[in-house]
Amino acid sequence: MSVLDLARPEIRELAPYASARSIAGISPVTLNANESPWPAPGDATGKLNRYPEPQPAALVEAVANHFAVDASRVLVTRGSDEAIDLLIRAFCAAGRHAIVQCPPTFGMYAISARIQDARVINVPLLADEGFGLDLPGLGLAAEDPAVRLIFLCRPNNPTGSMYEAEGILNLCRQLSDQALIIVDEAYMDFAAEPSMAKDLEALPNLAVLRTFSKAHALAGARCGCLLASPDVISLLKRILAPYPLPTATIDAALKALEPESLAATQLQTQLLNQGREVLAKVLKDLPYVREQWPSEANFILLRVDDGPALCDWLAGQGVLVRNFHSNPVLSNCLRISIGSPPENARLAQLLEAYSP
Ligand SMILES: *Cc1c(COP(=O)(O)O)cnc(C)c1O
Repeated sequence: MSVLDLARPEIRELAPYASARSIAGISPVTLNANESPWPAPGDATGKLNRYPEPQPAALVEAVANHFAVDASRVLVTRGSDEAIDLLIRAFCAAGRHAIVQCPPTFGMYAISARIQDARVINVPLLADEGFGLDLPGLGLAAEDPAVRLIFLCRPNNPTGSMYEAEGILNLCRQLSDQALIIVDEAYMDFAAEPSMAKDLEALPNLAVLRTFSKAHALAGARCGCLLASPDVISLLKRILAPYPLPTATIDAALKALEPESLAATQLQTQLLNQGREVLAKVLKDLPYVREQWPSEANFILLRVDDGPALCDWLAGQGVLVRNFHSNPVLSNCLRISIGSPPENARLAQLLEAYSP
């Protein structure tokens, strides 16, 4: 059995829209796409009058190199949010199929599922065990024949928790013909462990999501990617928008993957990780902090006596942090992103001055 057998048959059989640029590139005389022959006024790049390549070969190649996978395993998307949406639309028939997620986690898995009218099965993280994965619970949930996709966020947003790779690899083996397991590695640049991209070849039902929005400082460019089996990548290309990536986004992502940019990003990542350790120490000594969770991401989740009050007070001082109090499992919890050293210093100064 192939993981494609889990996909919607009508998508497997769909003939994708053949856009001009997917049929042929740019020629000395390019008259096949109803574009303007002139660059737009003020367009310094001189190329915005042309549609971009749907999957720019140079970018796909650079991403493949960066994650040490074959180019046939790469789909570049408009943020990883687009990849989540494509996966759910390709694998879940409305009103029939389901995804599994492990809350508290990133909100987009459930939202994309609900938009597609796919059921959301929750296998909550084990709050008493530092928000660890409930692997037996995941195995049981996947027994439901409606399940198509399992979303795991590693390290997890908003808890910062890291899961052992071995458990996830075993789950993939156990569910090889039952579900596609998607490991969202949005924060993996900040973690000590290696990416699971190296396991894709051995496990056709594993997929990895990455983004340029966090460590690579390109949230505004909207660029992410899915790394998966070549079958899954070809399937998703059938439903991909004709031109998902703006030209400026492609250029920014290519730039981010150049060696000098990667070196600078690595230094910034180290700085953020140091900032995280400093903040953890500050939090440890504050009388109103009840709990903080070890994080391998660029943020820390903590519980205080009165979360909403602290969030409001910080906001009044010009510092925004994320309030998670409305989630019963995260009552009085806030998530603080690590900023630049001066931003972190300002935050620490305020936290130490705060009296509830
Ligand atoms: C921020 C984040 C993303 C990134 O989404 P983009 O659409 O690529 O900006 C993906 N997954 C998680 C868990 C995140 O927190």
